[in-house]
Amino acid sequence: MGDPKGFMKYAREGPKRKPIELRVLDWKEMYEPIAEDKLKVQGARCMDCGVPFCQGSTGCPVVNLIPEWNDLVYRGRWKDALKALHTTNNFPEFTGRLCPAPCEGACVLGINEDPVSIRVLEWNIIDRGFNEGYVEPILPVVKTGKTVAIVGSGPSGLAAAQQLARAGHSVTVFEKSDRIGGLLRYGIPDFKMEKWVIDRRLEQLKAEGVEFKTSVTIGKDITGEQLRQQFDAVGLTMGAEQARELPIPGRELKGVHLAMEYLVQQNRRTAGIAVPDEAITAKGKRVIVIGGGDTGSDCVGTAHRQGCAEVRQFELLPEPPPSRSSSTPWPLWPMQLRTSHAHEEGCDRQWSISTTKFTGHNGHVTKLHGSRVKFEGGKFIPVSNSDFEMHADLVLLAMGFTGPVKNGLLDSLGVKYDQRGAVSVDESFMTNLDGVFAGGDTKRGASLIVWAIAEGRKMAAGINQYLQAGKSAKKSVA
Ligand SMILES: Cc1cc2nc3c(=O)[nH]c(=O)nc-3n(C[C@H](O)[C@H](O)[C@H](O)COP(=O)(O)OP(=O)(O)OC[C@H]3O[C@@H](n4cnc5c(N)ncnc54)[C@H](O)[C@@H]3O)c2cc1C
Ligand code: SF4
Repeated sequence: MGDPKGFMKYAREGPKRKPIELRVLDWKEMYEPIAEDKLKVQGARCMDCGVPFCQGSTGCPVVNLIPEWNDLVYRGRWKDALKALHTTNNFPEFTGRLCPAPCEGACVLGINEDPVSIRVLEWNIIDRGFNEGYVEPILPVVKTGKTVAIVGSGPSGLAAAQQLARAGHSVTVFEKSDRIGGLLRYGIPDFKMEKWVIDRRLEQLKAEGVEFKTSVTIGKDITGEQLRQQFDAVGLTMGAEQARELPIPGRELKGVHLAMEYLVQQNRRTAGIAVPDEAITAKGKRVIVIGGGDTGSDCVGTAHRQGCAEVRQFELLPEPPPSRSSSTPWPLWPMQLRTSHAHEEGCDRQWSISTTKFTGHNGHVTKLHGSRVKFEGGKFIPVSNSDFEMHADLVLLAMGFTGPVKNGLLDSLGVKYDQRGAVSVDESFMTNLDGVFAGGDTKRGASLIVWAIAEGRKMAAGINQYLQAGKSAKKSVA
């Protein structure tokens, strides 16, 4: 703790977003850089708590050494800060840009002041590390001769692959999409994270020996059983891609799409990759996004950049309170109203709305019909005389995900599921099948990047332990 009075002397400060009228003109990341002296001051706000809740069980899922690197930034020891950061987190450039920062929700200073700007320090430590050439491949001391297949190349699969390659195993990552990265690549829009950020890190993984095979769907091009016969261990990090549907009249109309159909198309366009003729676009349209969460917010930001006429976002749940709700006291992640950069760009947000049907003309949606609801007796009840209809040319369904896709690889393998429909694992992250492990959204249900990394690392530790004990999935299916 460099400055014992830092938390009293300095106010919280973060990077500024570019002006709205400029940032909606392109797909680039929207934050301005922040000066080094300001970052040091932010590091000085950390109190180096005896019990650092920021990295405890309610704070950081990867247990980042937050007070250590806060102090190292304050002292200008950037290389040491990077070393501390990489000790627990394979990809701080993803979490530094994209994490909602549960660590800040749990920061002790947050009890009566603004919390320490932890996420911004993380982001700057790693980007500076790359710029200064501090991020280099870490090669294993010995190769074990063991082989591991990872299914899915999102943050969880990548973290597992890196950990296992560094432990000396030969790792192959299979990805059904044409590019590596999972939701980081084709789900999350470029204005939140440009894709060179992934490519830069992939260079390190390749140099460390990780092999990537794209456009290969496991369960179709190669069966799960074949994978078990060919590899000593298999890690399932396939995400939780089963979208929650809205089975109401008019769902089949053109112009009503799942959020992911829409976001993937734009991410491909931004990357200069061809999209189908019937590309979904918000240009000149009246857009309604159903679902008040982060995916919905990403649809709003995308619609603005495509030049929509107007955009609304409807949520079934009631409007959250403006500040931390008493149901989530410190150090829990605060339940409160959040206004994202995309909402700042303009959006009519409405809560307690249930959509009842879509109607259209010539097979294309023209109107959304709904009513206001209240939550009573454990269910949503329509408020009398609150029915309404609203013009809509494009409706995006962003109501979350119900879990991993079961039909295909998972069912054919015969893995067991937990009560929430995610893949069930034991304490070593192994499924009910010998040598088959699972992590990230596949095991947890739709969650966050930081959890995907944390679980990818834990799954890798389980696989390493299994292989070090001389076991092999090949034996179990021979
Ligand atoms: C639109 C959107 C925005 C988000 N924004 C944020 C954010 O800002 N911050 C945050 O922390 N979290 C965010 N999330 C959540 C976060 O992206 C996920 O929790 C995280 O990516 C999960 O990582 P994963 O590795 O488990 O799975 P994924 O990233 O989903 O990767 C799974 C990969 O497996 C591949 N795959 C699936 N089946 C097969 C198969 N049979 N064979 C081969 N490959 C297969 C898929 O193609 C995919 O590439 C967002 C999610 C969405 C949808
Ligand atoms: S809880 Fe906040 S003030 Fe305390 S060590 Fe963590 S970042 Fe610093």
